[in-house]
Amino acid sequence: MAGQQGKPKFAFFEGKIVPFEDAKISVMTHSFNYGTGVFGGLRAYWNQEEEQLFIFRPQDHFERFIQSAGLMRIHLPYSADELVDTLAELLRAEGYRENCYVRPLAYKSTEMIGVRLHDVDDDFTMFAIPFGAYIANEDGAHVCFSAWRRVDDNAIPARGKIIGAYANSALIKSDAVLAGYDEALVLNQEGHVTEASAANIFVMRKGVAYTPPVQSDVLEGIVRRTIIELLRNDLGMEVIEREIDRTEIYIADEILLCGTGVQVAAITRVEHRPIGSGRMGTVTRQVRDLFFDAVSGRIEKYREWLTPVYMPETVR
Ligand code: PMP
Repeated sequence: MAGQQGKPKFAFFEGKIVPFEDAKISVMTHSFNYGTGVFGGLRAYWNQEEEQLFIFRPQDHFERFIQSAGLMRIHLPYSADELVDTLAELLRAEGYRENCYVRPLAYKSTEMIGVRLHDVDDDFTMFAIPFGAYIANEDGAHVCFSAWRRVDDNAIPARGKIIGAYANSALIKSDAVLAGYDEALVLNQEGHVTEASAANIFVMRKGVAYTPPVQSDVLEGIVRRTIIELLRNDLGMEVIEREIDRTEIYIADEILLCGTGVQVAAITRVEHRPIGSGRMGTVTRQVRDLFFDAVSGRIEKYREWLTPVYMPETVR
């Protein structure tokens, strides 16, 4: 079947870890019919030297997840810390010794017809799969501007990861890829640059890094936050959060995309214009190397971002 990925062995479903085949919802489930759910996306990185699997910034991810759920009037009976523990338990059950991607979902679970958020039950599920690269050509992506606009915060909250809103991302992604591009950049209703279909953007101009502010209809990305810190603390760069015009993209020295899926990818061509030298720039390469060192536990001061999955004695 088209684009199928490997299946996990287990899922957390209806309050416990169950065999993956048992984690099933009905075709009448509210969220399946109306997109009334929210999701998260985390990565865990395998460190071979330490034989350890590190979950990257899980507290931050689950705090955002709980906030997204709140926007949709979904009450989760778990705290962020409890969700971190549940995830570690799920990953131990899988026994993964490779990089993986985690998908928590909180959703309106009642089997019913009727578009609304109130008087509908909520539920939570989570699974994890082995995962590698997410976009093609992450060393030098060729992107276009999408003809679609990013969902407006007054239509569907852009700072929540709301399932229904990802129809917007899917339209953006497929129209770009089917037209021969790797990704697309998306403008908001005001015509300012927001992000890509599922990744935040940084634009380097004359030694300064710019990224759209969180009021520009962007997702408040965890990797965005991480890149800001790495650029400032480790590369000593000035990072400015401000609106970015479309034409600033064409004349940028470097552009990178970042997100849990994308990790850190260089954009080297936008439509029919090369960006900078047309190859991955120095800042992008440096911050990308720092990112991969940080997520796999190789930078001492950033180990606080990581939650180890295995106790030393349980490592096989
Ligand atoms: N923007 C959108 C629309 C996304 O779906 C994602 C992926 N979660 C991102 C940005 C990147 O966010 P994060 O760094 O938290 O993964």
